[in-house]
Amino acid sequence: MDDDRGQTLTATPIDTRNQVRVATIAATASFGLVVVSGQLKTMAGEIVAVWIAAGYLLGHLLTVPRHRKASVLVGGFVGNLVANLLGGESLYVSLSFTACGLIEVCTATLLLPQVHSANELIVPRILLRFVIVAGIFAPLISGLAAVLLLQGVFTTHPFSSFSNWVISDSLGLLIFTPVTINIISGEWRSFLQPSNRGKSLGLLSLVGCVTALIFAQSTHSLLYWVLPPLALLAFHAELSTVLMGILICISIAVPFTVRGAGPLWLNGFHTMEERILALQVFTLAALSIALPITALEVQRNRLLVLLRDGQRQFRTLAEYTEEVILQLGPDGVFQYASPRVTSVLGFSVSHLIGADISGLLHRDDVERVQLAMREAASAQSNESVQYRIRRRDGSLVWVRSFIAAMPMGPRDDNPSLLFTLRDIDEHVLAQQQREAERRRLEDLAYIDSLTGLRNRRYFDVEFARRLMAMPEDGGDPMMAVLFIDVDYFKQFNDRFGHQRGDECLRTVAKHIQTGIRTVDLPARYGGEEFVVVLKECSLALATRTAERIRCEIEALSISHDSSPFGKVTVSIGIVHTTDLETINTAELLRAADAALYDAKRLGRNRVFHWQGNLAA
Ligand code: GH3
Ligand code: MG
Ligand code: MG
Repeated sequence: MDDDRGQTLTATPIDTRNQVRVATIAATASFGLVVVSGQLKTMAGEIVAVWIAAGYLLGHLLTVPRHRKASVLVGGFVGNLVANLLGGESLYVSLSFTACGLIEVCTATLLLPQVHSANELIVPRILLRFVIVAGIFAPLISGLAAVLLLQGVFTTHPFSSFSNWVISDSLGLLIFTPVTINIISGEWRSFLQPSNRGKSLGLLSLVGCVTALIFAQSTHSLLYWVLPPLALLAFHAELSTVLMGILICISIAVPFTVRGAGPLWLNGFHTMEERILALQVFTLAALSIALPITALEVQRNRLLVLLRDGQRQFRTLAEYTEEVILQLGPDGVFQYASPRVTSVLGFSVSHLIGADISGLLHRDDVERVQLAMREAASAQSNESVQYRIRRRDGSLVWVRSFIAAMPMGPRDDNPSLLFTLRDIDEHVLAQQQREAERRRLEDLAYIDSLTGLRNRRYFDVEFARRLMAMPEDGGDPMMAVLFIDVDYFKQFNDRFGHQRGDECLRTVAKHIQTGIRTVDLPARYGGEEFVVVLKECSLALATRTAERIRCEIEALSISHDSSPFGKVTVSIGIVHTTDLETINTAELLRAADAALYDAKRLGRNRVFHWQGNLAA
């Protein structure tokens, strides 16, 4: 078929030849069909049951590209005119008939979209437009024009001529436009396909036999029994076959009726005109049943094909992607699993279908996954979640899933969920190892290797952080700092050696650690000095704690004959504050150091509480 690109080209000899070819086809077809229509008219006592020529011309006009439409019209005009003239009509009558026919098809062509196949014409929205334009509007316009132009020519009453014109043209357009498009587009060939042929032939035979049986007899009023086989045909056959069925109906019903047989001779119709009108109305009724059914069937089949294609594409994607694809019901039950699930989780697909995902999740991850599922379902957004899932052998594997809702329709509050699942076990384990290593190194950097307590670097940072956080903590707004120093330690080292000194420091550190609460912060501040921050601690408790540490170390009785006490002892300075808003760490440490200095000055092996002004 020609395409619209021809429009942009200047007329070439080939194009001119094509235009002539199209015009000749249109002229020949129009001529032939007007002659046939005229014959039918003569057969039916000068009453036209169906005007075939108009339907053909509209069908041809709707399928050719825009730049060929004029050729079709010219051909149609010539064919119509010549057929009328040869039929014995005067030039005026022939011209009037031809003009009315062209007005009709031009009106319909202007109001209808260009189509490439008859199936495009029966998309429900376009079918409605087609029925209104070709079945009502265009025939009314041409009917009016015919009555005006051919006033004295019609032998019957003008209204009767008008209604016969309108109905026969309406039927002609409604039936033969899709038939023509069907033939031009080649859609009719689907009838020949082996898969369709048997069924179509069977249904057409049924329609033909039932129509013949009904119209061959004149004793029973069985007219409407033609409709069930037509409806059956509309449900089960393609458009071309349905149209063929209607044609078979007409071509059986009209001759029988004209020859005096059939149910229309029973129902009190007095003239042939009335009978043909009844037949036309009946055919319109048959069409209005068959075409919408076919339209809906075609649309349904198209949707089914789309659905099947969509499902096939989904399966192909799901089965060849590296990720596992899962579909879960809103209750978390597996509805679909791609075959890759077997290599990742060890379960066969059939084993999973119907199982609940919660039963496979690590206890600590159930809530997180369920939350992500709820979020995905309610916000209909994509959620990403990392969790552990059990393999068939019972081992756990880290996976990451993207979860998306798959609502069935716009108002599905409980949609199924699509999960992608990727094995990230190695990745997570490597990450966990890296994290553990990072923490170990960090600890090494912040821990005093001799005593195992936090070192001064850590203490400085953590002390400042705690002091900042305390006013907002909501606990008792007070704290104490203990500064602890081993007495005469230089002499201890000198007397017993550095190694024994180290041991002594470790023992002291251990007793400091066990003498305080877990919320407190102990650290080795440097040399033989230790510091402890006592959180939310009253002065009384701080004093008790300091005294206990001092006593415990004294009670160890680590021999130190260079000390006046004869054993290792410690001195402790205490500073206590409730002014957490304005105080800073440097002021507190300075005050604690001053308290320690006083403890030393007053004789050592004692606790001293510093009572001066902190900000001084
Ligand atoms: P005071 O009673 O006034 O505190 O006297 P002191 O001798 O304890 O104080 P001084 O500051 O004069 O001496 C501290 C000593 O601590 C000096 C040093 O040899 C010793 N020291 C510091 N760090 C270490 C350590 O890591 N191991 C050992 N064994 N000794 C240390
Ligand atoms: Mg010291
Ligand atoms: Mg000392």
